[in-house]
Amino acid sequence: MTLITCKECNATISSQAFQCPRCGYPLRSVQYNINNNYYHGRRRSPKIVGVVIVLVVFILLYVIAYMLTQFL
Ligand SMILES: [Zn+2]
Repeated sequence: MTLITCKECNATISSQAFQCPRCGYPLRSVQYNINNNYYHGRRRSPKIVGVVIVLVVFILLYVIAYMLTQFL
């Protein structure tokens, strides 16, 4: 395991990390579209948006299942 320096906040972090633990700067697999996606998603984390979408889908499925049990 080697240590690298974050390009964004200059924190010393593990090269194994997927993102900087200090500022959330993505370190792997997203290097090619940093300029497009990272700065666009800075105001609201894309991970949080994904979690919210999954939660909404689960709530909708629960409501639909509940309604079906009421009608059957
Ligand atoms: Zn950082």
